[in-house]
Parts: sequence; C-alpha cells; structure tokens
Amino acid sequence: MNIVFIALGSNLHNPIYHLEKGIRQINHLPNTSIIKRSSLYKSEPVGPKNQPNYINSVIKIKTKYEPIELLDLLQDIENKHHRKRIKKWGPRTLDLDILLFNNIEINSDRLIVPHPEMINRDFVLIPLSELTNYNFTIPKYGKLTKYI
Ligand code: ATP
Ligand code: CA
Ligand code: CA
Repeated sequence: MNIVFIALGSNLHNPIYHLEKGIRQINHLPNTSIIKRSSLYKSEPVGPKNQPNYINSVIKIKTKYEPIELLDLLQDIENKHHRKRIKKWGPRTLDLDILLFNNIEINSDRLIVPHPEMINRDFVLIPLSELTNYNFTIPKYGKLTKYI
C-alpha cells in the first residue's frame, strides 16, 4: 500500500460541505482508505485577494493506486464538485493536491511531488503537522519543523 498525504481546500458554496464530501469520496475509492484527517483551518486566499477565505485540511490515506492514477481520480472528484478553472489561484469548490507520495519525488508535466508550494503554506504545514510526529521529514526539503 502507498501512503499519501492530500491537501484539501475550498472557498465556494459551503466549503465545509465540499471538504467533508471530498473526504468521503476519497474514502470510497476502491483500495483506498483514510488513515487520519486533520482539523479544518481557515486561511486567506493565495493569489487574487478578491475572493472568500478558504477552509483547508490535510488527510493521510493508504491506496493501491499509482501517482498518476490517483491524480486522475482526484481530478474526477474535483470535477464532480463542478470545479471550474477560470483563473490561476481563483476561487474553487474543491482543490485536491497530492502533497507527498510515500517518500518519492516526482517531476513530470502533470505531477510534482512533494507539492512544490507546500513548504511555503502554513495552511498545509500546520494541518500536516497534526498528522505526523516531530521528526517527520519531507523528501527533498528536510524536517517539517524547519518550515513552521
Ligand atoms: P497550486 O498547485 O499552486 O496549489 P492550484 O492547486 O490552484 O495551484 P490547479 O489548477 O488545481 O492548481 O492544478 C493545476 C495542475 O497542477 C493540475 O492539472 C495538475 O496536473 C498539476 N499538478 C502538479 N503537481 C500536482 C500535485 N502534487 N497535486 C495536484 N496537482 C498537481
Ligand atoms: Ca492547490
Ligand atoms: Ca490543485
């Protein structure tokens, strides 16, 4: 089984509903289950400021899917939430980012892991720290506690 951390974010049409439903949908994927989930956090938008605040969370899952298969499935779930891509970092009903996939590094056109912005985002690092121990290290970047 692969161990994967996923960041969830939403700032449209009842964000908590989208996060909770997204978590259930991930848990229902074949050969996939949620191991742990963080609390929900409120954060200010990255990029354009003229949009509502976000609700964010991080989950730890185990799954049999390979990275690109999982990305496809997560994007299917985003699409079921009627996610529209109008502008970069614009408002969205549900965003699902793969933060970490086992201990591997991926640098392909469609997928970069560890997620390249994760170390710069408190709304990712703080919930991630709830799910990991003090010595947790991020491939390529080192100890999580260096960034908080
Ligand atoms: P950011 O990546 O800065 O958080 P975003 O989440 O708003 O921005 P999206 O529009 O959701 O960006 O995604 C753009 C593309 O990013 C996706 O189509 C996907 O192919 C690619 N991508 C690269 N690495 C990842 C990753 N680790 N998790 C999810 N998508 C990724
Ligand atoms: Ca994102
Ligand atoms: Ca995304």
